Amino acid sequence: MDAPVLVIHGGAGVERAGITPKEEADARASLEAALRAGHAQLKAGKPAMDAVAAAITVLEDAPQFNAGRGAVFTHDGKNELDASLMDGATGKAGAVAGVRRVKNPILLARAVMEKSRHVMMVGDGAEAFAREQRITLVDPSYFRTEKRWQQLQKALKEEASGQARLDRALNYFGTVGALALDAQGHLAAGTSTGGMTNKRYGRVGDAPIIGAGTYADARCAVSGTGWGEFYIRAAAAHEICARVKHAGQSITRAARGVINDDIPKAGGDGGAIALASDGTFVLPFNTEGMYRGWIGADGVPHVAVYATDALKGDALPAR
Ligand code: ASP
Repeated sequence: MDAPVLVIHGGAGVERAGITPKEEADARASLEAALRAGHAQLKAGKPAMDAVAAAITVLEDAPQFNAGRGAVFTHDGKNELDASLMDGATGKAGAVAGVRRVKNPILLARAVMEKSRHVMMVGDGAEAFAREQRITLVDPSYFRTEKRWQQLQKALKEEASGQARLDRALNYFGTVGALALDAQGHLAAGTSTGGMTNKRYGRVGDAPIIGAGTYADARCAVSGTGWGEFYIRAAAAHEICARVKHAGQSITRAARGVINDDIPKAGGDGGAIALASDGTFVLPFNTEGMYRGWIGADGVPHVAVYATDALKGDALPAR
């Protein structure tokens, strides 16, 4: 695929039984809006990082996804948000974890990268920095949606009755991510999430951890979604790019190896999107569905949800 290219996901773990046709249609519309917002940046000659931030901001604002508004709830009934991004051209990165008042955590992660000497900030400190940087803060109630609240009530009930599906994708889905290849041939990656429903105090998943949920270098960019603990242990996003860089693997083989072999073998599940500097991209996952899409130079958005939906341009055949 010729540059520019933007590839996004809105989370693995989508199950047909878990969403209504209207919810699916709304999610697809938001994915298309995110693709168009990112594409507008690339078309204007802006760097890949601008496209990643623009696309993720749209998805954070859309209540269908588990990031920004519509984030899942912690065990204590709160929303604690994580996000990160990485610039493949410079190797710079920024991340935030456990923030409760930042409307768009991806913009704060970017400020950490560009306006501080640090890579990662958490909790109250990150919010103090957000205030300093005039990043938009909101009342924590802004993030609440009834659907996510009911998901927490269900998870709490299942846990109390000893029937918790701790091993299943039901506890997550809707994390968002974006990868871009700009006209200069530079890559960038970003990921944003509310984490996993019913997560305990201070739990941080893979999304804000550089190398686990997000990674980009000169040749490869990755954003992951799934059972974060497994992605952290596998250093999944970095592992995919390392196989491209050091083992000479194609991005398709590298991403498939980590997402379809290593993660399930270890007992985890989820998906990822991966984009190479030659414009090849691949969107593997091992759950029933993954919200995903891409847009190329012609500005036409392509979106898919289930494993059975073929996605034109995806290097992987639909299962
Ligand atoms: N990976 C995220 C986490 O573990 C969840 C997700 O992808 O939906 O926090």
